[in-house]
Amino acid sequence: MDGTQDFYFDVLRQVRMKRWSKGRVVLTGDAAWCATPLAGIGTTLAVTGAYVLASELHRNRDLTAALDAYDAAMRPMVEDGQSVPKIAPRMMHPRSRLGIHLLHGALGVASKPPIRNLAAKLFAGETKAPDLSGYPENVSQGDKAYSFSSRQLVP
Ligand SMILES: Cc1cc2nc3c(=O)[nH]c(=O)nc-3n(C[C@H](O)[C@H](O)[C@H](O)COP(=O)(O)OP(=O)(O)OC[C@H]3O[C@@H](n4cnc5c(N)ncnc54)[C@H](O)[C@@H]3O)c2cc1C
Repeated sequence: MDGTQDFYFDVLRQVRMKRWSKGRVVLTGDAAWCATPLAGIGTTLAVTGAYVLASELHRNRDLTAALDAYDAAMRPMVEDGQSVPKIAPRMMHPRSRLGIHLLHGALGVASKPPIRNLAAKLFAGETKAPDLSGYPENVSQGDKAYSFSSRQLVP
C-alpha cells in the first residue's frame, strides 16, 4: 500500500433490489444484483442474466411480460448466490499473522482435488439456476452465430 500511488480501497456491498427493471430500463449483472467477490458466482450470474434477458426479449412480444419473466427466472439463482454466510467476510480477512497462516493452510487443504471433489459432493445442493432448455439454441447476430447449451455459451 505504501509503494503505490493508485491504491483503491472500498467496502464490499451487495446490491439487493425488489425489481430489476422500470419502464424500458433494465439492469443485469453486478448493476442489478452484485453479490460481492465473496460469493464467487458474480460472473456466472452476469452471463446467465444477460442470456436470460436476451432470450426473454426475443420470445416475448410484450416488453413488460419479457422483463417480468426475466425477473422471475433469475430471482432464485440470484438470491441463492447472495446468501453468503455472515461470518465469511471475517473468515476471509484475518487480522493476525496466526489467522493468515490458518486461512492459507485451510485453503491449501481445501483446494486439493480429492478434498475439493468430496466437498462438492457433500455440499452441492439443488441448483437454483433457471431452466435454459426452453430458450433458442442458436442465435445469429450480424455474421456471427452463437450456440447455447444449458450450461455454456459457445461462439
Ligand atoms: C476482486 C474481485 C474478485 C472476484 N472474483 C470472482 C470470482 O472468483 N468468481 C466470480 O464469478 N466472480 C468474481 N467476481 C465478480 C465478477 O467480477 C463480477 O460479478 C462480474 O464481473 C460482473 O459482470 P458485469 O458484466 O455485471 O459487470 P462488470 O464486469 O463490472 O462490467 C461492467 C463494465 O461496464 C463498464 N462501464 C461502467 N460504467 C460505464 C459507462 N458509463 N459507460 C460505458 N461503460 C461503463 C465498466 O468499465 C465495466 O467494463 C470478483 C469481483 C472482484 C472485484
